[in-house]
Amino acid sequence: MSKSPSNIGEIFKAKSPVISVEFFPPKDEQGAARLEHTAEKLKPFNPDFVSITYGAGGSSRERTRRYAELLKDRHDYQVMPHLTCVGHSKDELRAVLESYRQAGFKNILALRGDPPKGQTNFVPHPDGLRYASDLVALIKKEFPEFCIGVAGYPETHPEAPDAQTDLLHLKEKIGAGVDFISTQLFFDNEKYFSFVSRCRAIGIEVPILPGLMPALSRTQARNFSATCKADFPLELDERMKAAGEDPISQSTIGVEWARNQIKDLLANGAPGFHLYLLNHSKPALALFGLLRADGVIAAD
Ligand SMILES: Cc1cc2nc3c(=O)[nH]c(=O)nc-3n(C[C@H](O)[C@H](O)[C@H](O)COP(=O)(O)OP(=O)(O)OC[C@H]3O[C@@H](n4cnc5c(N)ncnc54)[C@H](O)[C@@H]3O)c2cc1C
Repeated sequence: MSKSPSNIGEIFKAKSPVISVEFFPPKDEQGAARLEHTAEKLKPFNPDFVSITYGAGGSSRERTRRYAELLKDRHDYQVMPHLTCVGHSKDELRAVLESYRQAGFKNILALRGDPPKGQTNFVPHPDGLRYASDLVALIKKEFPEFCIGVAGYPETHPEAPDAQTDLLHLKEKIGAGVDFISTQLFFDNEKYFSFVSRCRAIGIEVPILPGLMPALSRTQARNFSATCKADFPLELDERMKAAGEDPISQSTIGVEWARNQIKDLLANGAPGFHLYLLNHSKPALALFGLLRADGVIAAD
């Protein structure tokens, strides 16, 4: 099988569906073993790229770098590290970007980040950046070889006063030089379709990669929906509730829901899908197996 281009913007031009998976940098050896196991198990399904999140501070940030390299060098994935503005001066951001450039990374997900725990408002570093669009502008000017992804919110960013204001800010962010949007997770495809239409109507033309989570359990899905301010459909809630306490039955429903979301998304023009897996292999393997049987993703 031919390898995808290294620039994600080029991957979107070269193929459909574009398939990607998000990892987070683990804290301990057990977590590291889980990440490696999942990375290994997903390899036969040829995700076009994987991303790795950036923590709120300290050692978690070094771990992003370490696991980004591990996924790239040991597991041979095309890796997109995330980077946030939280607590960083511009020079610190430049240093992180330079280290990624030197290590051969080609793609960055540029984010503002959430306020640190205990704070409600985002306060930029005195010599830092205020919005993700500022980070995009810095990367575009000083590291032009990077392909840049950004976050988009089908159900509106929680801090935005309203959906249209959020959309106009997204347009400014795209105008700073963005190659594609990766969305917040959602369980109701109508939210994505409406978001894409509204983006196109105001002139946002880059690919919009939908983000999905094959839910492991009702509790997990409800918690994530609440955290991300994503609607949790009553039908999914009731199906999971009817599965009782059995974790396998609940996860089977979560996987089936994601499978149907993906089939509907791709049938209606989505350029691919991005999976929030929290480093778990089982739901991903079940989902990829079903999608392969459906003919949605290619067999080796
Ligand atoms: C795909 C994805 C991956 C993520 N990965 C991570 C991660 O690895 N680490 C992490 O800590 N967090 C991550 N997040 C969460 C993200 O950091 C938060 O949602 C954060 O609150 C906003 O980041 P942003 O880049 O979307 O910010 P921005 O695009 O800067 O937007 C933040 C808010 O500011 C508003 N805004 C933007 N520009 C302006 C302006 N000029 N004037 C006034 N208001 C403006 C927007 O409407 C929005 O309400 C991720 C989110 C997604 C969807």
